[in-house]
Amino acid sequence: MKLTIVYDNEIFTQGFGLRSDWGFACLLEKGGATILFDTGARGNILLGNIEKLGIDSKIISKIVISHEHSDHNGGLKALAPLVGEADLYRLAKQSPSENMHLIFAEDSRQITEGVYTTGGLKGSVDEQSLVLKGKKGWYVLVGCSHPGVEEILNVAKQYGDIIGLVGGFHGFNNFSILEKFDFICPCHCTQHKREIKELYPQSYTECGVGKVIEI
Ligand SMILES: [Zn+2]
Ligand SMILES: [Zn+2]
Repeated sequence: MKLTIVYDNEIFTQGFGLRSDWGFACLLEKGGATILFDTGARGNILLGNIEKLGIDSKIISKIVISHEHSDHNGGLKALAPLVGEADLYRLAKQSPSENMHLIFAEDSRQITEGVYTTGGLKGSVDEQSLVLKGKKGWYVLVGCSHPGVEEILNVAKQYGDIIGLVGGFHGFNNFSILEKFDFICPCHCTQHKREIKELYPQSYTECGVGKVIEI
């Protein structure tokens, strides 16, 4: 499975005209399925980054919105006319267009083989995260972690042993629970990137637009 960061507060790959902005989006490619997790804040930046990374937005067949904050769902409207028929997994009961088929993702369920949502978890705002089956173990992809990284991992581990975490960790500071992780990639709103890097330099990975992760 291949993950590409297409929207983030930082740029990872310089020189391609990619743009950073406050928000998050990550593209997942697994077999024939292309899934977009979150859409960043601004449609023009999302679509520009996707195009500059050589990705055709028409191939996106599923879209998952982690939670209903504008830095995660803001690009959805601009994306709608460009994708064909697509399944939209979100925690709001509306779809921006008829070609996006709304699936209200209240409960944990499979999105495609090896990709599962935790379903909506309670936080300052309800949020879903993805649980991904990599070659070596299970990874969790988070938007802003409003329910708390601990709670998300607790639900995610029902699928198997978690070895990696990618996305926005927000104010998470219970660092010891990451000790056994092989792969830690804090993005977007993570407030304690420096501390995590100092504690776990072997497993720490820089995030940013253009970063490609093979799991
Ligand atoms: Zn948020
Ligand atoms: Zn956010």
